[in-house]
Amino acid sequence: MFDELSQRFEDAVKGLRGQAAISETNVDGALRDVRRALLEADVSLPVVKEFIEEVRRKAVGAEVVRGVSPDQQFIQLVHAQLVETMGGANAPLARAAEGPTVILMAGLQGAGKTTATAKLGLHLKEQGRRPLLVAADIYRPAAIDQLQTLGRQIGVEVFSLGSETSPEAIAAAGVARGREEGFDTVLVDTAGRLQIDTAMMEEMVRIREASHPDEVLLVVDSMIGQEAADLTRAFHEQVGITGAVLTKLDGDSRGGAALSIRKVSGAPIKFIGTGEKVEALQPFHPERMASRILGMGDVLTLVEKATKEVELADVEKMQRKLQEASFDFSDFVQQMRLIKRMGSLGGLMKLIPGMNKIDDGMLRQGESQLKRIEAMIGSMTEAERRQPELLAAQPSRRRRIAAGSGHTPADVDKVLQDFQKMRGFMQQMTRGGMPGMPGMPGM
Ligand code: GDP
Repeated sequence: MFDELSQRFEDAVKGLRGQAAISETNVDGALRDVRRALLEADVSLPVVKEFIEEVRRKAVGAEVVRGVSPDQQFIQLVHAQLVETMGGANAPLARAAEGPTVILMAGLQGAGKTTATAKLGLHLKEQGRRPLLVAADIYRPAAIDQLQTLGRQIGVEVFSLGSETSPEAIAAAGVARGREEGFDTVLVDTAGRLQIDTAMMEEMVRIREASHPDEVLLVVDSMIGQEAADLTRAFHEQVGITGAVLTKLDGDSRGGAALSIRKVSGAPIKFIGTGEKVEALQPFHPERMASRILGMGDVLTLVEKATKEVELADVEKMQRKLQEASFDFSDFVQQMRLIKRMGSLGGLMKLIPGMNKIDDGMLRQGESQLKRIEAMIGSMTEAERRQPELLAAQPSRRRRIAAGSGHTPADVDKVLQDFQKMRGFMQQMTRGGMPGMPGMPGM
């Protein structure tokens, strides 16, 4: 076990030494991984290409942070770039300077427009606002009923003129009603089509001209993946959008559509839909979406921890001690604790370059080994701790420590050997990592 650990440690240090910066050559493999992750998350291909080039420009030449592998640092950079591309922070809804804020909901049929209209109504109501929902989807037979049902459910008024009036007339009348009756927001649910089509776009333009919206929110089903880019482009060029709502993120979708939408239109995603219920709406957070797109869960947090936890200062202190030939049992324990601390941080150690092959079983073994060593060192006198040579020279001391710590003399011999190995190994590393260098003589 210990041999393996120190081998990993050796590899790790070598890995750290090897690469001081991310270069053209070593960035290619990492970029391939990112490209794959983005495509798997259904970001559209042209968007992926452009994004990768941006990352390449930023990554090449970036200095590597101590204690983090260039690969991990690179992922951090990619994550930051994703967050930036998606707008950095959450973008709030626009507010009209005077009169009601008018929000048009646009999108394909089935995207979740009617649901999102009600969800937003509830969201605003919960913030103490007074929204009015307007039913302007006159084609889908059940759309008006659906909005009215949802409106009753959330206690928000719904304005409708049936399905015989034109959508633009309904929208204009809805906004007028909102203004007359002191509603502060008018949410207009419009008709979608199964695909992008000219009639729908022209109708949207007429509704826009009749209602002067402060926001045109494109509602996009996150499950449509790659197609989100074309859809957004069409709506943006023909109607003009100010933001988007990305729905059905409670499903399997990795949310790559978020990146496509933003890249294509420049408009921020403002909300996400995470379920069929009216409560299932959340403000969009770019950093959460970036993690989801990269499929990396907590990796980033771990990288951040690694940067903080593996203080290079510790390593440097050890190196000085080795050069002064004063590396003793106390340092040994400290060194072991450093390794343990990295291990017990939930696989943090795996993030250290060269240590990624370590498995949980090994980490657990390492911890129990460390407890034994600590017990033995606890039974040593101060002099023995500072001068491990005393133990090597006098078997009676080793027997006393074994009895005191509840171990056999053979266990103590083993720990002594491990210590010598580690010290020898660390001295090699300090002197430039020359392989095959003999350990300390006379030990
Ligand atoms: P519209 O045609 O764009 O108005 O779409 P609807 O609002 O009628 O939604 C279409 C279907 O998607 C309905 O069955 C909704 O319940 C469902 N839906 C809408 N938003 C979400 C969501 O965020 N998650 C899930 N799982 N289903 C959703």
